[in-house]
Amino acid sequence: MVSRKGKTGLIDNVDQIAFDFAATPKIFTSPFASVSIQQDAESGVDGVLGPSKAKDDLVASSIEELRAQTIQCRKCHLRDGCRGVVFGEGNPNAVIMFVGEGPGSVEDELGRPFVGPAGQLLDRILAAAGFKREEVYITNVVKCRPPNNRVPTPVEAVTCYPYLKSEISLVKPKILVCLGATSLQTLVDPAARITRTRGTWFDKGDMKVIATYHPAALLRDQSKKKPVWEDFIQIRRQYEKIIKSAGSRGA
Ligand code: SF4
Repeated sequence: MVSRKGKTGLIDNVDQIAFDFAATPKIFTSPFASVSIQQDAESGVDGVLGPSKAKDDLVASSIEELRAQTIQCRKCHLRDGCRGVVFGEGNPNAVIMFVGEGPGSVEDELGRPFVGPAGQLLDRILAAAGFKREEVYITNVVKCRPPNNRVPTPVEAVTCYPYLKSEISLVKPKILVCLGATSLQTLVDPAARITRTRGTWFDKGDMKVIATYHPAALLRDQSKKKPVWEDFIQIRRQYEKIIKSAGSRGA
């Protein structure tokens, strides 16, 4: 087995990772330039569901306070068809935040995000990219399971958006990773296509935003493994750049 490390120290030989990505992934250069888009000065978030449409922003001073507010929510009919609200989890001071679509059946049952098959795959991808799950923050666009795991409607996403916006505002991640089209269209651009936009960095305030395929899509389509791994190599590089920059500023 050949072992090698990329410039960032990230192991980029697929033979060394538990998850079977495409053979011999290499450092990926996005065909897209880093794109700056209009940013919301208050939250750094300005997708279609931005502040102007989210009138009932929450006031919470901590993630725990926000969690306590969110789990009481019955603002939309999704709550009628699920066991409970599934709030985000992870490091409240995380440098990197992952935003998926919504809870599935296992998440609904256990009350935790990304713990079903797609979540277990995400755990393996995170580990392969050198991240511990407990050091990142993971959440979803909608906090209640849509019936039959369907895609949340725009109205449902808008209704739930204040919770996501508040999570982002409280955690203040430096890197925001949209997992799948719903997250990308909610946080970046409603017209964005995940197939074309994944792997592209966006600047939102002092956050770097990137989208990649949702792990559930990888479970359905093995050909998405390679682009996802390429995206995670980029994410890891950006993460290490930020950590290094923070270290040198503090030195
Ligand atoms: S999906 Fe969001 S807005 Fe709808 S009830 Fe659940 S927490 Fe509230």
